[in-house]
Amino acid sequence: MLDLHLDSISELEFNQTFNTEEKCLEYLAQKKWTNGFVCRKCNNTNYCIGKSSFSRRCTRCKHEESARVDTIFEGCRFDLTKAFYIAYTVCHTKGDSSHELSRKLNLRQMTCWTFKKKLSECIKERQDISPDIKVKLEEIVLRK
Ligand SMILES: [Zn+2]
Repeated sequence: MLDLHLDSISELEFNQTFNTEEKCLEYLAQKKWTNGFVCRKCNNTNYCIGKSSFSRRCTRCKHEESARVDTIFEGCRFDLTKAFYIAYTVCHTKGDSSHELSRKLNLRQMTCWTFKKKLSECIKERQDISPDIKVKLEEIVLRK
């Protein structure tokens, strides 16, 4: 299990930690089901392992939920490893420009810009995060 204080790790450590989709999904699953699984369709709390990595499947209604649902990465159409990296830069340094990200990650500039904007808005909306302190990735991973 990953137990990290993401705000205190370096960019290199971060990239080594989240270098595969699986590790990103494992982290999201851990965050999202910290207090256990509750099926969003029927409120059942028993689950079995789903078909995709780190997803969970309700034992009663068979609804399967991905680890991404309800996180800031839901609906993200590019690699999670790249999305995690963008989130890291936005949280820690206020970010490389979308042009730099585009070059580094081999994504379209518009894709980087859009995702960065989504993250910034998510940070702004959250009243419980002080704008004066470094925003911690942990705090914004789950959408409220
Ligand atoms: Zn269910």
